[in-house]
Amino acid sequence: MILTGSQARVVQLHPTRRCNLECLHCYSMSGPSLRAELPLEVLAPLIDDAAAEGYNVVSVSGGEPLLYRALPELLDAAAAAGMATTVVSNGTVLTEARVERLVGRVGLLVVSVDGAPATHDRMRGRAGAFALLEAGLEHVVAAGLPFGVIFTMSRDSAPELPWVARFAAERGASVLQIHALEEAGRAVLRLAGAAPGPAVNAATWVAAAHLRRVYAGRMTVHVDIVDRADLAAVEPRRPADVVDAPLASLVSPLVVEADGVVVPLQYGFPRRHALGSVLLARLRDLVPRWRAEEFLDFQAACGRAFAQLRQPVELPFVSLYQELTRRV
Ligand code: SF4
Repeated sequence: MILTGSQARVVQLHPTRRCNLECLHCYSMSGPSLRAELPLEVLAPLIDDAAAEGYNVVSVSGGEPLLYRALPELLDAAAAAGMATTVVSNGTVLTEARVERLVGRVGLLVVSVDGAPATHDRMRGRAGAFALLEAGLEHVVAAGLPFGVIFTMSRDSAPELPWVARFAAERGASVLQIHALEEAGRAVLRLAGAAPGPAVNAATWVAAAHLRRVYAGRMTVHVDIVDRADLAAVEPRRPADVVDAPLASLVSPLVVEADGVVVPLQYGFPRRHALGSVLLARLRDLVPRWRAEEFLDFQAACGRAFAQLRQPVELPFVSLYQELTRRV
């Protein structure tokens, strides 16, 4: 199930849930009291195995990846495997020294902006979080590190999308990713009812199309909301075609959660579809069994979810990853 629209075949790593913040919407429930990390000795071989399976992008997320001590070595391992790299950060710990360590190692740094400063600080649970992010971005811009912005949009912050787009473009972001807030993790407790519904999704989908025209040639605008009417039926892969297929041709993104469990498509995907734990076996040893014994079940579950989603409804705008996670 390939959901990225490009040639990017992404392995997404969550090496730690350690974070300096405790955001209201954190799907991984990360925070300052969590210390556990996936060791580099596990993640570096995993990167090699993922490259051998056809993945070409390593995306490091968290927790706050800049607090993962072995981040430079992890990025070096990705480069040695011939993979492009992205790092998703809350932007508040971007000191000059940290930014210098990222230059030449990160293809794209993505920083989170949740709205105008008051909204951002509220979502991040920290007064002054926006000011820290702005200061960090100054180091990023000064170092010439390519960067993008991800806007996690809630029902209430959706009207601030144009503000976020302007903020990002004025500082030289090359990408704006609009992500619909999900009631998962801490958001279940702290932001009940804040996820955007179909009407807000529809307005955002239209606004994103407008922003694409406004910032054409300067900043790429992605939105992870789809019009259900645009979904094609899943073309099932036949068992004979799957046996020797590289995993990246079957599943992207592939997600390594902070406890070492590998799941398809997105953090929090139902674990009955997990490949297993890289703390117990190498990815290269997990893949053959999953591909032979589990992939067809996963594919059938996604096919059923797509069939449901393709039913006509009045307001057909949804976050595809979230719907799949809910429905498989
Ligand atoms: S959303 Fe990101 S910055 Fe906020 S607590 Fe979670 S990992 Fe940390």
